[in-house]
Amino acid sequence: MRQSENRMSREDFINNTNIVRDALADYIQQCEQEDTKVISQPPMHDLTNELDLGRYITEGGLRGNSLKQFIETYLKNTTKLRHRKFLSHQISIPHPTGALGALVNGFTNNETSLYEMGPSATSIEFFMVNWMLEKIGWTPSPVPGNERTADLTEFSAGILTHGGSLANMTAILTARSAKNPNIWQEGQPNNLVLLVPEQSHYSLKRTAAILGIGENNCVAMPADHVGRVLPDTIPALISDLEKQGKKVFAIVANACGTAAGLYDPIGKIADICKNHNIWLHVDAAHGAGAILSQKHRHFVAGIEKADSVIWDAHKMFQTPALCAALLVKDYRHLDGTFSQDATYMFHDKNQPGVDMATRTFECTKSAMGLNMFMSIAAMGEKKLIQYIDNCTDLARMAADYINDQPDFECPVIPETNIICYRIKGDDERQLELKKKLLDEGKFYISTTRYQNKWWLRCVFINPGSTLQDFVELIEEIRRINAELKT
Ligand SMILES: *Cc1c(COP(=O)(O)O)cnc(C)c1O
Repeated sequence: MRQSENRMSREDFINNTNIVRDALADYIQQCEQEDTKVISQPPMHDLTNELDLGRYITEGGLRGNSLKQFIETYLKNTTKLRHRKFLSHQISIPHPTGALGALVNGFTNNETSLYEMGPSATSIEFFMVNWMLEKIGWTPSPVPGNERTADLTEFSAGILTHGGSLANMTAILTARSAKNPNIWQEGQPNNLVLLVPEQSHYSLKRTAAILGIGENNCVAMPADHVGRVLPDTIPALISDLEKQGKKVFAIVANACGTAAGLYDPIGKIADICKNHNIWLHVDAAHGAGAILSQKHRHFVAGIEKADSVIWDAHKMFQTPALCAALLVKDYRHLDGTFSQDATYMFHDKNQPGVDMATRTFECTKSAMGLNMFMSIAAMGEKKLIQYIDNCTDLARMAADYINDQPDFECPVIPETNIICYRIKGDDERQLELKKKLLDEGKFYISTTRYQNKWWLRCVFINPGSTLQDFVELIEEIRRINAELKT
């Protein structure tokens, strides 16, 4: 018997696809309307009922009019990233062409752990990784079949992962095995220490705990008043730790930090790492855009001296989630991450492509490179860089605006598209304001803890947002604040 439900006639397929296409086209328009709420959160139980989940899962039949109704209810209850007043979190507004990539990806389900399971998918991942390696200033990996690169012996390599947290963990794993070559067989020594910025992403502490290094051995480096690592203090910290019998195997630098979006002085930290034979990992999950930008490259000066870098495409690169990259300067270290007898991947196997499986935690690994490629290829590099620069400029203009308002303050001049600010009043007031704003749903912003205070925080990531949107937000905050006072 034919599995007819899965096969679906060409006519039904086109019909269902058209239903979804039309709903999404309406959705784009809706998100662009002023009176659409950017966020609304019905109680989960109500929403589960409204979506009619129980009935569909039991009875099936999600097609035609049912499909239309379901998708419309789904879209109605989304948080609307495509709304200009979406100013909260670091997640891309996917380029519509990139989103089509995600559809093709879901439909073909080719993956990249084995070249034979997805020649296009794997070639694109390899290409995009090489594109990023080259932007950092490293030598891209030789491409099987390209005679010109066949004799290269020194080059870089990378892998796409499902998210920056996993990329960070893989990077630290790579660092640990590079600096402790026997670890794969013998287990790890109990004196390893990872140095991180005070403002590091929580995935690094988790990594230390998960890898058995221990959260207490994930040590914050001294920082200046804005939270930027003070490189000159690192040698003394290393020798203090050595006196306690500890061994620093890796240092992490932010490019940029998550809370306030500031870059650490990578070049100076790199020189210290080189002197002490320590691995330098740069967390550029959010701030990798500066690598491409002539205007902002100075923020990441020296990044080419790092040993590894992570780079999220699903933040500033308009790519549907998830898509992150781990990039490693010396390919041998990446090949050694998951085993010590890893050999050069291309020459010991007579095959037309590269298998990613030996370089990653993941077994089945989606063709996320397609999503990244299609998002960027629709714009071209130049427009992408313009977009990233504009977002950064917007944050700086917003900070200038705040600094002209007597009742607001900014802790620091933004270096990326992230701005922290607060209205005169205590911590409690900032949190109340955020809650009120979200209840109203006209604006969606976030809050963050920074310099021991709570701040309101905006991330300019929607290509449609303007300074005017921010000005309106400030006026709205003032209005709510006055109401809360009475
Ligand atoms: C977002 C972020 C991460 C985590 O990346 P995910 O893709 O969300 O897992 C790590 N580091 C920094 C600096 C980030 O901004």
